[in-house]
Amino acid sequence: MIETLSRRLAAVREQIAVAAAAAGRQVDEIQLIAVSKTHPPEVVAAAVAAGVTDLGENRVQEAQQKIAALHHLQPRPRWHLIGHLQRNKAKLAVSLFDLIHSVDSLRLAEALDRHARELDRRMPILLQVNVSGEASKEGFWLPGGITNDAAYRELLPAIEAILALPALEVCGLMTIAPIVDHPDAARPYFAALRALRDDLARRYPQASWRELSMGMSDDLSAAIAEGATMVRIGRAIFGERH
Ligand SMILES: *Cc1c(COP(=O)(O)O)cnc(C)c1O
Repeated sequence: MIETLSRRLAAVREQIAVAAAAAGRQVDEIQLIAVSKTHPPEVVAAAVAAGVTDLGENRVQEAQQKIAALHHLQPRPRWHLIGHLQRNKAKLAVSLFDLIHSVDSLRLAEALDRHARELDRRMPILLQVNVSGEASKEGFWLPGGITNDAAYRELLPAIEAILALPALEVCGLMTIAPIVDHPDAARPYFAALRALRDDLARRYPQASWRELSMGMSDDLSAAIAEGATMVRIGRAIFGERH
């Protein structure tokens, strides 16, 4: 198992390096997040042994069990929540994760802020944005990105309110591109997220806006070409999910 994992991991790292070089970027600007959802703790432990430092999970309860089972791992991996978060799990999420990528409403952000204050921590978050307009996708609603004036004007007050929450640290944006036949077809969605990030950074310099979490197994090179700083890779590292 660990040989297969190591080989796949090396291939993904190589793909990241090639995409970064093609885009004239430094490879260390791009954080690899290994998405371990559905895989048991022993597989996750093998990934960490193979050099994975950052793990992505999409369900709070599944992550809670794995984090408990793997609390002894050294060095301790960072845990990322990449899936939709319900407000009734906000407290647990604050206690478990190093970065929450999937903040998609002001009400959720307010709940996270309240629990972060109770737990006396500052919670790093990303704002998930739906730039594709697919009804199946979560995220703040901004199909077409900043060129969609009406939707953008509606969105800005919520973002301002989130930036004012004292226990949250807004680090950037996250999106999920549509499934497309050719990865280059995903580029406009990644470009839209980047343009949004650049515009928000101009408007609200009080936050860093550094991170662009975008790119999965099938479209990571396109995402890196458009400026991804975090790629979330599941199948290319762990194989198909069952
Ligand atoms: C499952 C998942 C991934 C990883 O997808 P792969 O296609 O397996 O690389 C990335 N991001 C999110 C939000 C996911 O739910």
